[in-house]
Amino acid sequence: MKKKFIFLNGTFIPAEKAIIPIQTHGFQYGTWCFGGIRAYYSQKDNCLYAFRMKEHYERLKKSAHVLYIEIPYSIEELCILTQTLLQKNYTKHDVYIRPFAYKSDLSLISFNLPTLQNGFGVFTLPLGRFTSKPEGIRANISSWTRISDNSIPPRAKIMGSYVNTALAKTESHIGGYDEAIFLDKNGHVLEGSAENIFIVLDNTIYTPPSYDDILQGITRSTISELVQKELGLMVKEQSMNRTQLYQADEVFLVGTGAEVLPVIQIDGRNIGNGRIGDITKQIQKIYTALVRGEIKAYSSWLTKVQK
Ligand code: PMP
Repeated sequence: MKKKFIFLNGTFIPAEKAIIPIQTHGFQYGTWCFGGIRAYYSQKDNCLYAFRMKEHYERLKKSAHVLYIEIPYSIEELCILTQTLLQKNYTKHDVYIRPFAYKSDLSLISFNLPTLQNGFGVFTLPLGRFTSKPEGIRANISSWTRISDNSIPPRAKIMGSYVNTALAKTESHIGGYDEAIFLDKNGHVLEGSAENIFIVLDNTIYTPPSYDDILQGITRSTISELVQKELGLMVKEQSMNRTQLYQADEVFLVGTGAEVLPVIQIDGRNIGNGRIGDITKQIQKIYTALVRGEIKAYSSWLTKVQK
């Protein structure tokens, strides 16, 4: 089997040698942050296309800033080292890229972030489709409130905050749903467990505003741009309540992992006619073609990696 590499603290090392000590602050206290990037295999062009790598690294640097973690590379260097890693681990398969920046200090008693040492790594793994439900998914409104900017900032993609995600997702699974939708403490709809949310109502598209407690998704910004440019529809950033989801014509979730995920039922209520809506279908089609390099107008979002 082909050897797999991981980038860790300055070097590419075989995956089995990429080991982090058990006492590491990030592991003990969740003081890490991360990114998630997809690279798509194009059979036609015989290459991988990494999607919006630059924007993902810009966000990662901003996440790290909140935790006083300095990533010792420029955005350009991060993109280049990721390209090298993709080449080393090249597969003719869609790939998920996971960069992470962490408090590598072995002190268990200090919580003074600026004084703690930092680490940085990237690994890749094969990743196919997020769900096996092409007919759309069934979601519930989570009973777990989303973390907020003044507790653990959701904007910063902090590892420890994914406990909130895990609790919500587990509740969904136990209840027989596919996905959880978070509300904030005022009852405003925020996002899915790891996806941003859009609703369609009377040919207008709505999404919670960026000043709410949501992650500023790269897919969210991609979809907002596509909806306006390709479909000529308006996207309004507006807070919404759960009933607005029940009454929407269409609901879909978007994220790097999930891509464009139609939601056909929420809390047992059909969304629209309970089938994937036309606008969602069109967006899915455009997004799928675009990430594989099939729409030239958006090729600046793609980084080509060839063996
Ligand atoms: N919200 C949360 C909480 C997430 O974890 C993710 C996945 N990164 C998203 C939204 C979607 O973000 P992106 O489109 O940048 O992957």
